[in-house]
Amino acid sequence: MKRPPALVSFEVANAAKIDIKSLELNELQKLADLRQPSYRARQITDWLYTRRVDSFEEMTDLPRDLRAELGKQFAFGKIDIVRVLGSRDTTRKFLFRLSDESLIESVLIPASPALYGEKSDRRTICVSTQVGCAYGCKFCASGLEGFSRNLRPNEIVDQIIAIERETGEKIDNIVFMGMGEPLANLDNVTRAIRIINAPWGLGIGARRITVSTSGLAPQIRKLADEPLQIRLAISLHGATDEVRDQIMPINRKYNIDMLLSACDYYTKRKKQRLTFEYILIAGVNDTEEQAHLLARHARRLSAKVNLIPYNAVEGLPWSRPSHNRQEKFLSILRAEEIPATLRREKGHDIDAACGQLRLQTRREEFELVRRS
Ligand code: SAH
Ligand code: SF4
Repeated sequence: MKRPPALVSFEVANAAKIDIKSLELNELQKLADLRQPSYRARQITDWLYTRRVDSFEEMTDLPRDLRAELGKQFAFGKIDIVRVLGSRDTTRKFLFRLSDESLIESVLIPASPALYGEKSDRRTICVSTQVGCAYGCKFCASGLEGFSRNLRPNEIVDQIIAIERETGEKIDNIVFMGMGEPLANLDNVTRAIRIINAPWGLGIGARRITVSTSGLAPQIRKLADEPLQIRLAISLHGATDEVRDQIMPINRKYNIDMLLSACDYYTKRKKQRLTFEYILIAGVNDTEEQAHLLARHARRLSAKVNLIPYNAVEGLPWSRPSHNRQEKFLSILRAEEIPATLRREKGHDIDAACGQLRLQTRREEFELVRRS
């Protein structure tokens, strides 16, 4: 039996076979050459996402020859948890080994205010979308080791499944703020989101899924045209090109004007507010002038602002501003009536979680894994 390449054309690096958890229900239904009744697709998704088995063999209500055929056509990957850092009720980091030995991390953040959903009683997973990152923001640990490859849809979905299995907890909020730039892997990320969101998949509401981008303007427009009501967060981190150019190389390609007009397009298409993430870095982007200009941008787009005190990265020269200076920055936004929050937790908990997954522990973990 042939593989149906016309059905699935997303990027699969080095993969001989497409993984079954990278397929959507309609694609499973189109496996017409298997000559199966259409309810077979729902049986398969039920085994994958409700009962969560690890092999085709376990799908016992499918005919034996169909199970064998599926095994021939599709891969059935599983990502292994190599290490867990942290304990219940705190932020936990999970280190995964992928089938090609790449290592990625996800973070589970327990219920906490001031994250990206509206309510505070959420368990949030911060997922990775790439191995490494090619965008090289000057302050970020993920970019330090360069880019190796995009994650496939199943590798994104499996981060959530593996963590739910390990912890026994149901996840209700997903943020795409781990390693990598989600919009540089747009096809695989949107496919993963459809699986995460679908009632036949993980069933997590689109409004509880937030994608964060460093500012890939054309892809923001593309995402705006997708029929998905997910939330979008923009890593702005500077209110002028001068500041942004210094710390985010992407700004030389898509400057603030181009970025904001793409954001404008997104908010108009989706009729929803977006969030500006703004890391406060001492002496770089924390002046009163930047605060006023940031307020202007936020007002123009009716955006919310999340201020995040910078978490120091070993080997990089940046640091967070003093507590007073952080509060001053926040008070300027508030005085301008911009909805804004400041994460006040210490560096090693929530702040440290998202967006700097390789931080502190990454090299040490590589070492430990190599030695074990
Ligand atoms: N590539 C995407 C998503 C991953 S980064 C993006 O850049 O938006 C997720 C967030 O973590 C971004 O806002 C990023 O700027 C932030 N981040 C990266 N390094 C950080 C650090 N050392 N301290 C605080 N936030 C950081
Ligand atoms: Fe990549 Fe985002 Fe880090 Fe920039 S901040 S290097 S885009 S992961």
